[in-house]
Amino acid sequence: MSSEKKDLGFLKYKREEIAHRPVEERVEDYQEVHKEPSEKYTTKQAARCLTCGTPFCNHSCPVDNLCPEWHQFVRQDEWKQALEVLEETNNFPDFTGRLCPALCEGGCVLGINDQPVAIKNIELAIAEKGWEEGWIKPQPPETRSGKQVAVVGSGPAGLAAAQELNRAGHQVTVYERDSRAGGILSFGIPNFKIEKWVVDRRLEQLKEEGVRFELNTEVGSDYPAQKLKEDYEAVVLACGSREARDLPVYGRELEGIHYAMDYLTQQNRRLAGEEIPEEELIDAQDKRVIVIGGGDTGSDCVGTAIRQGAEQVYQIELLDKPPEQRTTDNPWPNFPQTLKTSSSHEEADCLIESGEDGCDIREWSVKTKRFSGDQAGEVEKFHAARVEWKETDEGRQMEEIPNSEFSMAVDLVILAIGFVHPEHDGLIEELGLELDERDHVATRDYQTNLDNVFAAGDMRVGPSLIVRAIKEGQNVAQEVDSYLNQ
Ligand SMILES: Cc1cc2nc3c(=O)[nH]c(=O)nc-3n(C[C@H](O)[C@H](O)[C@H](O)COP(=O)(O)OP(=O)(O)OC[C@H]3O[C@@H](n4cnc5c(N)ncnc54)[C@H](O)[C@@H]3O)c2cc1C
Ligand code: SF4
Repeated sequence: MSSEKKDLGFLKYKREEIAHRPVEERVEDYQEVHKEPSEKYTTKQAARCLTCGTPFCNHSCPVDNLCPEWHQFVRQDEWKQALEVLEETNNFPDFTGRLCPALCEGGCVLGINDQPVAIKNIELAIAEKGWEEGWIKPQPPETRSGKQVAVVGSGPAGLAAAQELNRAGHQVTVYERDSRAGGILSFGIPNFKIEKWVVDRRLEQLKEEGVRFELNTEVGSDYPAQKLKEDYEAVVLACGSREARDLPVYGRELEGIHYAMDYLTQQNRRLAGEEIPEEELIDAQDKRVIVIGGGDTGSDCVGTAIRQGAEQVYQIELLDKPPEQRTTDNPWPNFPQTLKTSSSHEEADCLIESGEDGCDIREWSVKTKRFSGDQAGEVEKFHAARVEWKETDEGRQMEEIPNSEFSMAVDLVILAIGFVHPEHDGLIEELGLELDERDHVATRDYQTNLDNVFAAGDMRVGPSLIVRAIKEGQNVAQEVDSYLNQ
């Protein structure tokens, strides 16, 4: 047995991140930032795994990924077996291998006093090897139940539900209002994080397994929701949580202030070859851009603005700057609430260092006060104040710092401050679905207040993550299958 097989790799190898294409090269295009992990890299990183008796990585992962098992197979050069174990719990490891924040790594035992195993990169390597070798194949059911199920929405929750229900033998039709399936994977997440052929290749797999897709069909307008309920034995709603949070300050109505999703989806459409009418174009070229919202969506907007040729980009966040290291109230195995630097931040920083137009982009503890505009009604200035966060008996409270107001010249403002709940007009109203206290669809065991109507994903739990949406799809499929087999 080699030393790797004795699980001592963590003594020999340090954690290494997956290689990224050089900044100067990648900001010139929209192709994926990362390079594919090599076998050598992956085997070394897998060798760092301790194969723990109680694998906290597995407990920290929403789909209960069997990480220690795949690591063992990879270091034994048994990639096909690694893929089989990976596919046991995750329908789309090529999505999560690219996009997941890797909750598993937050729980990795090695992370107590060292860097965690690079689980996400290993997952990506196994999934890509599976495609390259032709091991990932359509898995149509051997027999059909004769039951018809409709899935509304083709994001990761809808796709996972469709795949599971189809594999259980039911005839599944997915209704999607957009021109292509994939939800936020196709329209929202920039191509430089996931190229769209990655989504398309999965959609092809689903089609070959027997899932039908009805695109450009909005349930609740193009197809009455009540009729859908009557036409199918069960309906799964997986429409996401798409009502954007607004920033109702003075000047919000000025031209040049847009929601992040409008900006990001337009860029996806442009890259897919769609012509956008001039008056609808949101383009950062030669503009001074402010992205409001310090999260991942904001960071996606930063990367997009850089690629469009923005003159300057700033990313503004109301909350405090997160700590560099875990704090005592955020111990292992909880996910570390620490400062994360995305590839887009990396690009902005590198562009500054190399002296090109770029941006020291991140500002924390800044409260937007108002916008002002020019005679033509175009946004011209962003006005804000600095705040301080204090611990009080009523929890953390924000206080504006006296005389801290400042203004910045701006040509384009992107609001990336999240989503409040699913869209209520349309199918939710038409069906009379009950909502929970946060205005998401209320369910019990994934079933809504209507007999054959189920809900899953962000529409049920609120804005979340792809890995959680996949788990939601798996869970709702199980409930629907039991319902149909009653
Ligand atoms: C910009 C952005 C970037 C993100 N990046 C990441 C990331 O890197 N990693 C990560 O883990 N998570 C990320 N997320 C979160 C993640 O994308 C979501 O949690 C996930 O996509 C939710 O999946 P879902 O299937 O519930 O809904 P969605 O992906 O929102 O899909 C819902 C689908 O339903 C369709 N639909 C809605 N109403 C109807 C109707 N009436 N009829 C027919 N179709 C309808 C919509 O068009 C859409 O295609 C990101 C979110 C955003 C907004
Ligand atoms: S917790 Fe970390 S070291 Fe332990 S089995 Fe999981 S990946 Fe390996």
